[in-house]
Amino acid sequence: MTAAGKQAVVTGGGRGIGRAVAAALTRAGHEVTVLGRAVPALEATVAAGEAARWISVDVTDEAALAESLGGLDVDVLVNNAGIADSAPFVKSDLALYRRLMAVNFESVVVATRAVLPGMIGRGFGRIISIASIAGLKGYPYVTAYCASKHAVVGLTRSLAQEVARTGVTVNALCPGYVDTDLVHDGAARIAAKTGRAAEDITADFHKHNPQGRLIRVEEVAGAVVWLAGADAAAVNGQAIAIDGGET
Ligand code: NAD
Repeated sequence: MTAAGKQAVVTGGGRGIGRAVAAALTRAGHEVTVLGRAVPALEATVAAGEAARWISVDVTDEAALAESLGGLDVDVLVNNAGIADSAPFVKSDLALYRRLMAVNFESVVVATRAVLPGMIGRGFGRIISIASIAGLKGYPYVTAYCASKHAVVGLTRSLAQEVARTGVTVNALCPGYVDTDLVHDGAARIAAKTGRAAEDITADFHKHNPQGRLIRVEEVAGAVVWLAGADAAAVNGQAIAIDGGET
């Protein structure tokens, strides 16, 4: 397989990890569609030559997400869209769990169901979900986020077994703290709640990684390009940590 002509879709592809993934897949020769909510960011990604086209969809809108993907012959699906609200467990009501599960997990189910029959029919497919190190271990104050990412890892491991003989692989990437707005906005929110300096909170994030730094978006994107390629055909059902050795 060469990447040329392979159709890739990246959810939440207008910024952060998703945009870096779109750019890297485009550079590798894939024809990339970025899908998300924020139209200006999606337009900017296409204008920069980092994707071929964009589609505006909220991934929690089941019908719209399924319909937008159903019309494409998707070879590589990157389930990246996600949110990371935090709260102590006793202040985490069911609405928080439902919101995180809808964005981080149910969208993976809906998008994967929309593209999988076509992949199986063509005998090739790559489902790659950006889970998190929070899909492999626990952290305080993020029970809902951790539960949603553990769910993505569980789905990945199970579906990989189910489709193992079809030419489709299903894998998850599990980054530690990555240098994106999601992490910096999170630090700002914690600072506002606790009165601590945002820089001190970011410094704590660095300490989780034995390499003492945040992960770069390109380090996640490189793993996606590898998983999307022919040489990763035997990699299936994995939850690969990209965390500097934290797990
Ligand atoms: P980000 O906030 O920069 O980007 C998230 C993207 O998802 C945005 O483009 C946003 O518009 C999109 N999105 C969110 N809700 C959506 C919805 N309902 N419909 C459509 N699009 C929606 O965050 P990021 O850091 O780039 O994170 C990307 C993924 O990586 C997420 O799933 C996140 O959980 C995961 N992740 C991030 C880190 C980190 O430290 N940044 C670590 C591990 C895993």
